[in-house]
Amino acid sequence: LPTINDILDWAGRKVGLLGIETTNVLIRDVVKDTFDAVQWMADTKGVRIKQVLVDGSLKIMGNMGDLRKMLVNLLDNAVKYTPSGGIVTLSIQKINNEVKIEIADTGIGIPESELDKIFTEFYRSENAKQSTQYGTGLGLSIVKRIVDAHKGNISVSSKLGKGTNFTVLLPAS
Ligand code: ATP
Ligand code: MG
Repeated sequence: LPTINDILDWAGRKVGLLGIETTNVLIRDVVKDTFDAVQWMADTKGVRIKQVLVDGSLKIMGNMGDLRKMLVNLLDNAVKYTPSGGIVTLSIQKINNEVKIEIADTGIGIPESELDKIFTEFYRSENAKQSTQYGTGLGLSIVKRIVDAHKGNISVSSKLGKGTNFTVLLPAS
């Protein structure tokens, strides 16, 4: 029997995800498309998205659709799990030969004991479920898949009730 992983891989390829077509992707374009998708939700909730040091001229060799989906999912989470009045901060800089993307929020946080589980398909932490019933728990598993397909790395740090910080490192082109 196929596992959930097999099915997601298959589905991803079927709809053209996971690096089938790679080009020199300009960060500016990824950020613009992403903001078009998430800004309305932030405005509706009263969460401010701040850009700190976003170097739009940076380029990643990758798949535009995938990179957009990766950033949309991370910003969607940050806004979704941050109460009204909170702040989400995005920064994108080149460090050595890598593009470092940081998404920080002042939201509900993730319990320490659950930090290693959130990239697993369908996993949602207890405090997230209490904060909103909307979510399949698939977003981060897709993000992880995309980061892996681009030979990058993703890490998370969080303090319960204070906020969460995701860091993605991708090879710059
Ligand atoms: P979906 O993305 O499928 O709509 P989801 O957002 O709940 O649902 P994921 O994006 O996969 O699922 O995230 C998995 C879990 O990780 C969340 O349910 C939540 O427990 C935790 N999480 C992710 N991002 C944050 C964040 N910024 N703040 C607090 N918890 C988070
Ligand atoms: Mg999500």
